[in-house]
Amino acid sequence: MVIEADVAVVGAGMAGVSVAYELSGRRSVVVLEQEGQAAYHTTGRSAAMFLQSYGGPEVRELTAASRAVFDEAGPLLKPRALVWVAPADQVSELSEMADRLPGLQPLTGPEAEAQCPPLRAGWCAAALMEQSAEEIDVLGLHQHYLGNARRRGARIVLGARVEAADHDGTRWHLFTEAGLVKAEVVVNAAGAWADQVASTLGAEPIGLKPLRRTAAVARASDVDPAWPLVADVGETFYFRPEGANILLSPADEIPSEPGDAHPDEIDVALALERVNEATTLRLRSVVTAWAGLRTFTADRNPVAGPDPAREGLFWLAGQGGYGIQMAPALAKLAAGAVLGESTVPGALSVQRWR
Ligand SMILES: Cc1cc2nc3c(=O)[nH]c(=O)nc-3n(C[C@H](O)[C@H](O)[C@H](O)COP(=O)(O)OP(=O)(O)OC[C@H]3O[C@@H](n4cnc5c(N)ncnc54)[C@H](O)[C@@H]3O)c2cc1C
Repeated sequence: MVIEADVAVVGAGMAGVSVAYELSGRRSVVVLEQEGQAAYHTTGRSAAMFLQSYGGPEVRELTAASRAVFDEAGPLLKPRALVWVAPADQVSELSEMADRLPGLQPLTGPEAEAQCPPLRAGWCAAALMEQSAEEIDVLGLHQHYLGNARRRGARIVLGARVEAADHDGTRWHLFTEAGLVKAEVVVNAAGAWADQVASTLGAEPIGLKPLRRTAAVARASDVDPAWPLVADVGETFYFRPEGANILLSPADEIPSEPGDAHPDEIDVALALERVNEATTLRLRSVVTAWAGLRTFTADRNPVAGPDPAREGLFWLAGQGGYGIQMAPALAKLAAGAVLGESTVPGALSVQRWR
């Protein structure tokens, strides 16, 4: 099989399908995914939150700029407040956060307990609430992008791992498990593999770090679905209702090689221990657990736009722990760069790693 397109996007996670959607209709697009299904890796494994108080200034700006798309694309968000809690030894971190993010509502310990009654009395010294935080229908957003990209003519080829590549001076030749793909432009949206894909294309890696994060769902009794997401400001755990159960994480960041991440029993146990210490939930029985790779650049900003040293190669990588909530704005930025209609701000550019 030989496929010819203007743009080949490598990866059909949230990054790949969102940029494919933005480009399709304007350019002929093919999305190449190594797995037999899209959204198999990190995109299918998130905690599904839209948090405007999470990440650095650039990430928060991209998140805020993405908000409208969630409404336009359908009912993809539902309210789920966020309470950043601080035990006594994290109070100074909480006041730094309060200074940085004056929009958050300060809560006393008892006020935080009133928002989330399972918090153990006296454990939380102070808290900050993001009342407008929301839960995302991640697969709904992914399907919105994938389905509409297809309707605009994009081809999605599964089982098409890009294994080798060369450039004939005009076009890329990508050698995949599904056949040869010829394209003028390649968008590298390969998540944890983005540095490897860059090497395959003869470009320099940018030092991406895939960090494994574990999540689990545990049985609990008397869960009120209106409880907020509770996260400690020192980022050692978070939990929220998931139906009649509790979703929880030890907020781990374990350096990993790109691959199919699996949860380690120790990390699941750590999550249970930390949540049980802060609450009266008495979580023991785990219904399911999973892990995914959150892939970061050294400054934790994503990277988008042209590779300055490799003609026809564009990046859309390093989405870390925010790749769902900021996908809409980041995809528009990346597509604008491919179309030559706009430039990517310096703080997100590939140049800063060269
Ligand atoms: C536990 C956890 C909780 C999270 N919570 C949130 C949250 O609440 N909110 C939020 O916004 N974000 C969250 N995230 C982060 C978010 O999930 C990621 O930032 C986002 O999914 C990254 O999307 P992606 O498309 O870059 O990567 P991926 O979804 O991993 O997609 C990359 C794709 O590229 C493909 N690929 C790689 N190499 C090749 C190749 N050579 N050829 C073809 N295909 C290739 C892979 O198979 C993969 O499908 C969380 C992540 C985890 C793990």
